Amino acid sequence: MIQEQPPISVVEVSPRDGLQSEPKLLSTEQKATLITRAIDAGVRRIEVTSFVHPKRVPQMADAEALMALLPAREDVDYIGLVLNQRGFDRAKAAGVDEITMPVVASDTYNQRNQGVPTAQSIDDWLAIAAQAKSAGIRAGVTISAAFGCPFEGDVSEDRVVDIAMAVAAAEPDELALADSIGVGVPAQVTRLVARLRDVLPNVPLRCHFHNTRNTGIANAAAAVAAGVTALDASIGGIGGCPFAPAATGNIASDDLLYLLHRSGFETGIDLDAIMAISRWLTDVLEHDVPAMLPKAGNFPGSIGLAAV
Ligand code: ZN
Repeated sequence: MIQEQPPISVVEVSPRDGLQSEPKLLSTEQKATLITRAIDAGVRRIEVTSFVHPKRVPQMADAEALMALLPAREDVDYIGLVLNQRGFDRAKAAGVDEITMPVVASDTYNQRNQGVPTAQSIDDWLAIAAQAKSAGIRAGVTISAAFGCPFEGDVSEDRVVDIAMAVAAAEPDELALADSIGVGVPAQVTRLVARLRDVLPNVPLRCHFHNTRNTGIANAAAAVAAGVTALDASIGGIGGCPFAPAATGNIASDDLLYLLHRSGFETGIDLDAIMAISRWLTDVLEHDVPAMLPKAGNFPGSIGLAAV
């Protein structure tokens, strides 16, 4: 008997975080197909692209063209990642429903990622959030490297809480904690989410995990147990990390949906349809994907590849 649980919003990030470290460039049409198939599977929030300089992330060079190809859907939120004012101006002109802006918890990583110290990105976010709200665009902020930094090592939880308080001044529609390099463990998630819920009880929280060290799904379970109701994931678990080239990507939507559904959480997303998209991605990307469910099969109800 499965206990009744609150709905969880699973945000599909494969078109952005998933694809941006893929060596193979997908066509704009292939990206639109990925997004449309995700919508058909029941996904309602999708991080579709990133409005960064095309030279920095060639996979995202078609941001405007991709937005123009997507079906107009009142019931779907297309999320664009922005790093600064220029990115926000482009995202707004392209018609995104929601923006998310990373503010990296360590100065070194923020400098590498967006060319300015963390404090400058916080100021940029405060200005951008105000503009987004007046334009009717949902404004989300992501504290990246909240569980550890590839350059500075451990990141203090006090610093993450301080940044959260600073960015919360703009009343974000959602605040995300990101384990950008996949170093976090569930005990950290439990502590950090509890601290944020304590100081910012009215700010909806989302979590973003990478499965780089195989702790991603456990971290997602800890986040949900701590009261988080939105999680990022990518179909097939695609999306490496530029600082750890051999590492696996975001937690897989396939595996996360299995965990959530079998635990009694509603997501509105059809797991079998997601697994079919994973198999399609394997063909399109010309390599295997890290997700376990497409290999093992859903349970109960479908026979996995492992059984045939
Ligand atoms: Zn990420």
